[in-house]
Amino acid sequence: MHIAFVTLGAFGHINPTLALVTELVRQGNRVTYFTTESFRSIIEGTGATFVPVPSWMAENDHHNDDSKDKNEKKEDENVAAVVPFLFLNEAGAYIDTVLDTLKNDVPDAIVHDFAGIAGTMAADVLHTKNIMLYASYPSNDHYSVSASFTSVPEDHPMRIAADRLADSYVAKYGCRKMTVKEIFDGRGDFNIVMMQKRLVPYAESYDDSFVFTGVQIGKRTAFGSWKAPNNGKKLLYSSLGTAFNNWPEYYPILFDAVRDLPINVFAALGSIDPKSLKDIPENVEVGQMVPQLDILSQADLFITHAGMGGTGESIYYGVPMIAIPQMDEQAITAKQIEAKGLGIAFLDKEKITASSLKAAITKILGDASYKETAEDFSKDMRSLGGAKASAAALLSYLARA
Ligand code: UDP
Repeated sequence: MHIAFVTLGAFGHINPTLALVTELVRQGNRVTYFTTESFRSIIEGTGATFVPVPSWMAENDHHNDDSKDKNEKKEDENVAAVVPFLFLNEAGAYIDTVLDTLKNDVPDAIVHDFAGIAGTMAADVLHTKNIMLYASYPSNDHYSVSASFTSVPEDHPMRIAADRLADSYVAKYGCRKMTVKEIFDGRGDFNIVMMQKRLVPYAESYDDSFVFTGVQIGKRTAFGSWKAPNNGKKLLYSSLGTAFNNWPEYYPILFDAVRDLPINVFAALGSIDPKSLKDIPENVEVGQMVPQLDILSQADLFITHAGMGGTGESIYYGVPMIAIPQMDEQAITAKQIEAKGLGIAFLDKEKITASSLKAAITKILGDASYKETAEDFSKDMRSLGGAKASAAALLSYLARA
């Protein structure tokens, strides 16, 4: 089979595809992978044919930019208004390369997630199978991913601009209209959910076009490897992910929370410059982008923004969590983490203090039930089969279709 992947150039979107692509190639399928140039070596490492696409967002999206003042950042934080506009512009930058490359070599399927809008557009234009990957909750009868986006007032300039872009793509390419509803609640001809059902509210309401294969753990080489200090102490790993990690106020709180605790701490800083941090305690090591799977495989506790990638990975390795969500979807996960006994959630990050964080760390490390629950979820997660199961489900669907 020939399968194309169209992915937004960001780790949170690329990472969940890597193990699946590697598995498809390993089984003798041809994979053509479209994303931005900076991911070339990572994609080529899977054995896929890498095709670089131009990026509108690399030139125009500065939401994690330190040079911005507070008001500009506040405006940017109206994520619900901005994100569809960004993604649609990115689709506009990708689509001609995708169509030019594939028009004489039409794949059996185009695989993408909600942010890979050019994937849906290309599948429409080329009349091939549209496969949706979900690294997080798909919409169902009780939950709509698009709800927070459709709540943006219709006269919001970003919403109007996004709508115009979607109209222009219909006119130019003859694809469906990528409305906010279509982007966030749309489904593929076949749908692969890289989660375990146990964490998805109302999981029974999905039809047979959805398969749940769990987090897709594969070999990663991007950030080297890491070994915990060999001192017999427990390891706390902290990461706020790759997208909304620019929260410098958090680090003094974390440092004060762990300074006197007999544990090792590794903090992934993302876009924060390590030199900007003062008073780093002796038991804390910091890095910017770090080998998360390596670290989680050795960790006893994970402080996370409850992004679905990190949450799935933590569960896979049986690591309890402290969840500090940065946006709506992560808040759902944070609540699930607490409700299921996998950890403790701080739903309002502004209210966290060093002492409340320290209390949560001490509680989880001192109460074996969190670890037991995490191990139980891990067992279920591993039984789903990850990338191997995704590849098998996809190929079997395509063979039937
Ligand atoms: N990640 C990593 N090193 C880092 C930070 C993150 O490898 O220093 C990976 C992490 O393992 C996960 C992804 O980046 O696969 C982040 O995805 P997630 O959904 O947790 O958060 P997002 O960045 O999308 O908000």
